[in-house]
Amino acid sequence: MSNCAIVGINWGDEGKGRMVDLFTESYDVVVRYQGGGNAGHTVINDKGKFALHLLPSGIFRDGVVNILGNGVALDLESLWKEIEDITGKGVSITSDNLKISDRASLLFPWHKDLDELEELRLKDKKYGSTKQGIAPFYSDKYQKKTILAGELFYPEALKEHLKDITEWKNLTLTKVYGAKPYTEKDIYDWLETYAEKIKPFICDTGEFLKAASASGKKILFEAQLGSLRDLDYGIHPYTTSSNTTAAYAPIGSGFPGAKIDNVVGVVKAYSTCVGEGPFVSEMFGDEADKLREAGLEYGAKTGRPRRVGAMDIVATSYGIEVQAATEIALTKLDVLSYMKKIPVCTSYIVGEKEVTRFPFPALLNKAKPVIKYLDGWECDITGVRKWEDLPKAARDYVLFLEDSLSCKIKYISVGPERESIIVK
Ligand code: GDP
Repeated sequence: MSNCAIVGINWGDEGKGRMVDLFTESYDVVVRYQGGGNAGHTVINDKGKFALHLLPSGIFRDGVVNILGNGVALDLESLWKEIEDITGKGVSITSDNLKISDRASLLFPWHKDLDELEELRLKDKKYGSTKQGIAPFYSDKYQKKTILAGELFYPEALKEHLKDITEWKNLTLTKVYGAKPYTEKDIYDWLETYAEKIKPFICDTGEFLKAASASGKKILFEAQLGSLRDLDYGIHPYTTSSNTTAAYAPIGSGFPGAKIDNVVGVVKAYSTCVGEGPFVSEMFGDEADKLREAGLEYGAKTGRPRRVGAMDIVATSYGIEVQAATEIALTKLDVLSYMKKIPVCTSYIVGEKEVTRFPFPALLNKAKPVIKYLDGWECDITGVRKWEDLPKAARDYVLFLEDSLSCKIKYISVGPERESIIVK
């Protein structure tokens, strides 16, 4: 195995961060290639417990170089706070182990304002945004109205560019939303404060990756969120505003010629979904509360209770296809240990028809889950480290999923700690 991408198969929060942290043992470089500080990867290892938002999850491993590629939304203020938080807990972050692409676009405070203003305008039709400015940021990127990180090294040209963008942005803030405009000074001062702190990390990461690859270094690509939130392939419009798929990794990392040999799709042993939108296998009431508590399903970034549901074979098969996953890491199997019978959604009823192919987004609200129940194992499995030591019912559950999903489940996690893993 040389280059590898670790991606989410469902709605996000599958446990990608903990898998990246584990995999870094065998990799030299970790690249975050899309999304922004709206991620919440929880990682527990020998250095402590951490919630990462934008920093790649390889940051804890000595000798690993971490890269924020051109595809990310670079919020200088939040990133600096995150760096201070992580270094404050004893983890070293220097320009040797963190490099930021000079082609990454900057996320400004107005992106967060606009995110909030638009959710307020939408009222009960809101998208359930984390309000980190991600959608307004990517819209601006496509309109070519962003500043690139590398521009921070050219102050004169930067001032002029920022002036033009502020003028344009203020039109939307004031005329569309009736909000307060930014002065050129406000925004320049904000930028200067954080630019000085982040500048030492900014470089041509494309050149670095190409050279690393040529010298035989192994690269791990880290995604945020999951297939069903992909801008092109997800549940439109309840997606994020970037491509969460492995196919985007070469583009968003700064190494368009990268070859990805292995795509590890991270799948939770049940389903969770943060925010709005159709969620066919959703559970409600007591059944949902029990699962939410067992899995501690509250957002790392927002603290919002996550919606929970049964493992969804229809959505997961689609997620695997979209990611072209070569193998699966199944996480949080231990959470199901309290269940006597484990529900699995094996197909949907849409109208009169039973379907196993994930429907077009507009049909999802009409889809009803077909649930099959498998036997639970009803004992603690958090100490298990070998496949053959899992109770038979747990192995049967995993084998049933493997067979239904037609993809090898190679890794099974039974606790949040780095070592709570079974390699099958
Ligand atoms: P990510 O964004 O995909 O990295 O996932 P999150 O970090 O948002 O959510 C995964 C949560 O599950 C985190 O709180 C992890 O510590 C936790 N977790 C990961 N794997 C396991 C596991 O096997 N068992 C249990 N009980 N918790 C896990």
